[in-house]
Amino acid sequence: MNTQTHVLLAAAVLAKPDQPARNTAVIAGSLVPDLAIYTLFVWSKIAGIAERTVWSELYYQPPWSDAVTIGNSAPIYLLFLVVGLTATTWFRPASLLTYFALAALIHLATDFPVHVDDAHAHFWPVSEWRFRSPVSYWNPNHNGNWFAFFEIAIGILLSFVLWRRFHAVWVRALLVLAVIAYLGPPLYFGVLAGL
Ligand SMILES: [Zn+2]
Repeated sequence: MNTQTHVLLAAAVLAKPDQPARNTAVIAGSLVPDLAIYTLFVWSKIAGIAERTVWSELYYQPPWSDAVTIGNSAPIYLLFLVVGLTATTWFRPASLLTYFALAALIHLATDFPVHVDDAHAHFWPVSEWRFRSPVSYWNPNHNGNWFAFFEIAIGILLSFVLWRRFHAVWVRALLVLAVIAYLGPPLYFGVLAGL
């Protein structure tokens, strides 16, 4: 799914008002699986590489493919989760690692059913297996069009849930921005990439 949906979902499940450290860990965990993709995007812009080359070639080649695989490895986050849960019994701040791992695992679980050609090896290093779903969250050739509507509906619903839970003006401003952001990627990848 799109990054902002991962962030909104993890926040809706795990974030609480007046717990900034916990909420930061939740947001970081929800973002980290997509970190390699954003790094590739920014680096390719700086290096002046064509959009087509980035997403059809570089994304599937080392070191980028390795970075994406590591960032989307469920066993790594499960390890973090076990360490976090164990360590919290004698060192309370370790619960932040637990929240980080949980948010990342929610990200992986919701990406799992909606990737086709770009499916991640979610069980690496245990297995290289990739689940090629019939549904892509973005590719119109694999039901991406109707899923996009579904994801936008989920995103707006989650924004509403968080709006009710958080009263701070800056949080609510970010929620408005998140809703606006749903219109960005379809415009960017659909309209601009077609030019
Ligand atoms: Zn992802």
